[in-house]
Amino acid sequence: MPSPLTSFDRAMSFLRATFDRLKLSTKEKTLLSTPQHILHHNISFKLDNGKMMKVPSYRVQFNNARGPYKGGIRYHLEADIEEVKALAALMAIKTAVVNIPFGGAKGGIQIDPKKLSSSELERLSRAYILSIANDIGPDIDVPAPDVNTNPQIMAWMRDEYEKTKHVYAPDLITGKPLSYGGSLGRDKATARGGFFILQELAKLEPPNLRNARVAIQGFGNAGSEIAMFLHDAGAQIVAVSDSQGGIYSYVGLDPIRIEKYKKETGSVRGQYCKGSVCDLKRLKMDATEVISNDDLLLTDCDILIPAALDNVITAKNAKNIRAKIILELANGPVSPEADVILKKKGVIVVPDVLANAGGVTVSYFEWVQGRSGDQWTAEKVDRELKRIMLQSFDDVRAEAKRNDLTYREAAFNVAVLRIVDAMRVRGWVNGTKGK
Ligand code: NAD
Repeated sequence: MPSPLTSFDRAMSFLRATFDRLKLSTKEKTLLSTPQHILHHNISFKLDNGKMMKVPSYRVQFNNARGPYKGGIRYHLEADIEEVKALAALMAIKTAVVNIPFGGAKGGIQIDPKKLSSSELERLSRAYILSIANDIGPDIDVPAPDVNTNPQIMAWMRDEYEKTKHVYAPDLITGKPLSYGGSLGRDKATARGGFFILQELAKLEPPNLRNARVAIQGFGNAGSEIAMFLHDAGAQIVAVSDSQGGIYSYVGLDPIRIEKYKKETGSVRGQYCKGSVCDLKRLKMDATEVISNDDLLLTDCDILIPAALDNVITAKNAKNIRAKIILELANGPVSPEADVILKKKGVIVVPDVLANAGGVTVSYFEWVQGRSGDQWTAEKVDRELKRIMLQSFDDVRAEAKRNDLTYREAAFNVAVLRIVDAMRVRGWVNGTKGK
């Protein structure tokens, strides 16, 4: 059964456990459980048929004790206030785990963007940024892409903001196209950051990446790129999936070939199957099987990488997970109940707030470049990303060792302590613990 909790309840469950471990004061707990601002609008935009459409939209500014609010904008029917609040809280934790000078925020529009034409998408995006234009800015709140939004949408938003405010604002928004203030390396940053962590982990825990068997749920931006990095490092990608299902091969899959066929057919199993009809001879020849997304999570492998949806590893399937390591590239893929089960089983979980923080880290580099007018080389971006990811992993590992915690518990401890420290020195809360 899926977790009965909302996504915000699940995020809060991890946070509340952290408050108890750190014995925070009531005021500290309240500030860290409550968004500072919730912007809610019903934005209107024109459809191609001339009619107006009205949709609910949100920007949740969770906490800015450590710097401007930072977080993506999601276009999805399920991007309701609970989901946007949860993601905003997790952003505050994530920016603190990697120690970049930002707080946490998230935006969402409750719409299915796949039903819109490109010009409708443009009008929607311009309407959204106008609705929040007075509450964001390079020093206040810096948005970015998230699920179903992309560099083109960021470009429309920056353009609309600059025209309306009569300003030049390359540092307003990140994830922009390279020709309009984007940063090199942003497209692969999330996967690269996760890969750096796996490389470090492999030095501490078997298996060596060379011999590792890896299953990846979601073959989009994050999932396909980490498959490439791991394949190049000698790991065996034994299973991958997307929204239409997955494939498994005990001899290993070639992610370059999968990417090629996914582009041509629209799915990772498209090279073997048309709808539900599959070419069994070809599957046999390639020692490959068609599997479901549920099967993928239970694959016999060393490393499992959920890189698609939240809440996919729950109390229902956690006990049957066979992976030794889970790298959370998706946000919130493991429910709090499942987290307890995995801890008991001794599965090492690298939490989302660390594992996928490469994306926001390079967004930070993009903001820095926008402010300074500088343009970093791809080598500099990768070098700095590696430095930050390794330092963050070291900080989390040290905290885990010091207090006998899981990596998730340790990452939340490190982040919450950093935010509380900023709130204390700013005078938002009392300077001593437990008041
Ligand atoms: P994406 O849209 O590029 O890819 C998502 C993939 O998931 C696609 O292959 C899609 O087919 C697949 N998918 C959708 N529904 C599925 C289902 N029911 N079962 C299995 N697969 C399904 O998105 P992305 O940018 O790769 O992001 C994936 C996850 O990583 C999201 O949770 C996102 O919030 C998180 N994330 C991404 C970044 C980033 O920089 N891309 C940064 C941080 C976190």
